Amino acid sequence: MGFIRPLPDLLISQIAAGEVVERPASVLKELLENSLDAGATKIDVQLEEGGVRLIRVADDGSGIVPDDLPLALARHATSKIASLDDLESVASYGFRGEALASIASVARVTLTSRHASQDHAFRLRSEGSQAGVRQPAALAAGTVIEVADLYFTTPARRKFLKTDATEFAHCDEVLRRMALARPSVAFGLTHNHQVKRRLVSADFSRRAQEIIGEDFFPHARPVDVAAGPVRLSGLAALPAYSRAGRDEQYFFVNGRFVRDKLLMHAARQAWEDVLHGARHPAYILFLDVEPTAVDVNVHPAKTEVRFRDAKGIHQFVFHALQQTLARPLTGVAAPAPASASPPLSTNAPSTYPTTYAARQAALPIAEPAVRSYLELAQAATRDGMVATPTPTPSSAPPAPAATLAAPPLGYALAQLHGIYILAQNDAGLILVDMHAAHERILYEKLKNNIAAGPPPMQTLLVPMLLAASELERATAAEQSETLSALGFELAAAGPKELAVRALPALLTGGNAVALVRALLKDLAEHPASRVVETQRNALLATMACHGAVRANRQLSVPEMNALLRQMENVDRADQCNHGRPTWVQLSIGELDRLFMRGR
Ligand code: ADP
Ligand code: MG
Repeated sequence: MGFIRPLPDLLISQIAAGEVVERPASVLKELLENSLDAGATKIDVQLEEGGVRLIRVADDGSGIVPDDLPLALARHATSKIASLDDLESVASYGFRGEALASIASVARVTLTSRHASQDHAFRLRSEGSQAGVRQPAALAAGTVIEVADLYFTTPARRKFLKTDATEFAHCDEVLRRMALARPSVAFGLTHNHQVKRRLVSADFSRRAQEIIGEDFFPHARPVDVAAGPVRLSGLAALPAYSRAGRDEQYFFVNGRFVRDKLLMHAARQAWEDVLHGARHPAYILFLDVEPTAVDVNVHPAKTEVRFRDAKGIHQFVFHALQQTLARPLTGVAAPAPASASPPLSTNAPSTYPTTYAARQAALPIAEPAVRSYLELAQAATRDGMVATPTPTPSSAPPAPAATLAAPPLGYALAQLHGIYILAQNDAGLILVDMHAAHERILYEKLKNNIAAGPPPMQTLLVPMLLAASELERATAAEQSETLSALGFELAAAGPKELAVRALPALLTGGNAVALVRALLKDLAEHPASRVVETQRNALLATMACHGAVRANRQLSVPEMNALLRQMENVDRADQCNHGRPTWVQLSIGELDRLFMRGR
């Protein structure tokens, strides 16, 4: 007798569930896709306990005929494709016919549906893949599917789930993606009987404004570039608006949300020249191609795709974005007229409003936050005011006498374009990247501080409020211990905000909102249960980056000298945390050569 035997059906589904039903959010994704495939125009989602206790999705779609109810829950049974040809040109979200079967193998599922041909609805319950008997039920139209007690058959998996708040946040993110892809569909979302979202049928621009934080919009620019059957449309944020993570990168291929390396790379490249290496661009982009040009059957969750002409797509996306970003501000293109779109492409932001394009064009060109004494004096004279003598900033350090040995990085002379510090040392000229240097100093100080316990904190007189997503708020709550070890005190404030009550004293000079956001983002991705030194250092680096002086901050000569002295006293001050140099020296000899000046 041999040892190999076929796996029982239930086990096969449970194994498959490992790929499709990773967490409540992945169940929700499958259910929403089914509703959209059924032509729903209104979808209501109810979640309890992060979706673990209950995920209920009600739609007004086509419904399921009574005889199909058991098949809907059976493995490899689908109404969406029947042949390989169909598969190659698939336009629906689903086609594998395994989602409901997988879900039914790890949860209690109740399917209630009324097809237009029926005068009442039918209901089928299933527990651990054991379908019960079909019962008559009451339902006006469409389908209601309830998934209760997720993983009750496989308690080991349940242990991998995070808190309800985190699981809910992931569910909400899934809904946001769907809502962006299908603005004409109305969505409702409740969690533990509280209304979390109510999205009416809208055009893309309105839907996008509801889904993406409003900070994004003043910087967003419409994208609409087509080449033959390939079209890229949506919104791309100009570099002035960037993110610490990839959380505002929405890419849809034929209406399907994807996390595709090729597309992300093409986008990254388009922003490369204009964005700091540690920052991430923000965009909502829709790539529409012929269904036969892309294989969506690469991954069970279908978040990866394969293009037949990968190189061509990469180039197209890169150039389309590069052009869009390079377009001068005043040239914001008039939106293209709305066109009838196929079912999966109802996403083109063709009616993008001119309102904020106009608002954007009206904004003045960015001014440095603080103007120099000279400029102020000039402005005063120009305006016919008496220019009162202003204190000259050079009063601080005496110009170093040639005989006195200057410190290694010399004495500050001036600040160049709000970015570089020019200093003179014995050898010649020193150029310092002010932000990079400050970042490095903060990083080393934070590291030293934290080795000796929580860093000194600065309690804010008035707590600073920041608009926070569900995920950010959940992370703040779950990671409060880590946050306080890092010198932060955050608290929930209102339904959509976080209050920053205290910050590490070293970091009060930077952009605290960006800092807290970046930190929460890092912590959401790498929960601190695994805080090891390398990760802790990565967190400190994020903190240093946001705590450091930004470009265009006017520094006084004493401030610049203070920075130079600190650099001399800090380990590894020669490189910023991104590996670039923080300063360079041009010796008198090198300068002479530039001017072909023989000595
Ligand atoms: P797939 O979507 O890949 O076909 P699923 O397991 O997700 O596989 O669903 C199986 C079948 O159940 C679908 O092909 C569809 O016919 C039917 N179905 C599921 N959900 C709905 C719904 N909300 N409305 C109408 N039919 C549905
Ligand atoms: Mg499906």
